[in-house]
Amino acid sequence: MDGLPQTMELEQAPASREAVWQRTLKAPIDCVGVGVHSGARVQMTIHPAGPDSGIVFHRTDLDRTLPARFDNVVDTRLCTVLGVPGDPTLRVGTVEHLMAALAAKGIDNALVTLDGPEVPILDGSAAPILFLLDCAGAVEQAVPRRGIEILQPVRVSDGAAFAELRPNRFGPCGLGMAMSIDFAAAAIGRQAYELQLSEASFRHELAGARTFAMAEEVEQLRAMGLARGGSLDNALVVEGARVLNPGGLRMEGEFVRHKLLDAVGDLALAGQPLHGRFVAHRSGHALNNKLLRALFADRSAWRPLPAPPALAAA
Ligand SMILES: [Zn+2]
Repeated sequence: MDGLPQTMELEQAPASREAVWQRTLKAPIDCVGVGVHSGARVQMTIHPAGPDSGIVFHRTDLDRTLPARFDNVVDTRLCTVLGVPGDPTLRVGTVEHLMAALAAKGIDNALVTLDGPEVPILDGSAAPILFLLDCAGAVEQAVPRRGIEILQPVRVSDGAAFAELRPNRFGPCGLGMAMSIDFAAAAIGRQAYELQLSEASFRHELAGARTFAMAEEVEQLRAMGLARGGSLDNALVVEGARVLNPGGLRMEGEFVRHKLLDAVGDLALAGQPLHGRFVAHRSGHALNNKLLRALFADRSAWRPLPAPPALAAA
């Protein structure tokens, strides 16, 4: 574990947990953009939804619905894709940046309608989605927010890469996150980053970090008919020690910050906020999803968060 990040332990127990209500959007909001892999032009509208409905996708072109849950993930090779095994038509790709922004904004319930197979990539980060959600506004729903408390460590790995969820020493007090990456390309190299997830930390430290690819991979993907909507406008492209985007990086550590952004979105597919610590090295969509599957397969490793005492007594 030398040199790998360890999420910060809170130095003292947090103040007693207050009632936190579920939230949805105040009004619908929409946008149009291209899917980075399909190249398809997609219109997306994010609508308010009732308490306990969670985040649900609806393909208006197919009139089919898919709940945003880890056990509906069918592909993780390039992005996180929701679908139904054996039904290649019903797919919703690249959900991770949208899921991350919704989770960070504390939006528990929303219906996301799409007229195509993929969430628009926009600028490759979560910042434009956060802006949309800010414009829509949020309302509380008078039903307590649920949550999942990690009780025992759960770890998945693939060679040197791993992802782990651990309990918080002081009980349910949100999600601490730490990620490290190690790329041969000198423009990236070794990077590590950690934070306690909140709307503010997500907004200021992760939301603007863009997705990235190696120049040689982009060529391969194009040859396979993928990354059709990809461009220097929606992804960082790296060639050895060089970042090919004319404007360069937006921030120091943009690469590892984007990996954390992806993890926020992938872990949001738990369906409820996680309370614990996420520690990962070179983890991507596949390991993040494998981690949630391992967590929920081990009933002793987690429990539903009990209602705060004030609510339980009410
Ligand atoms: Zn991403």
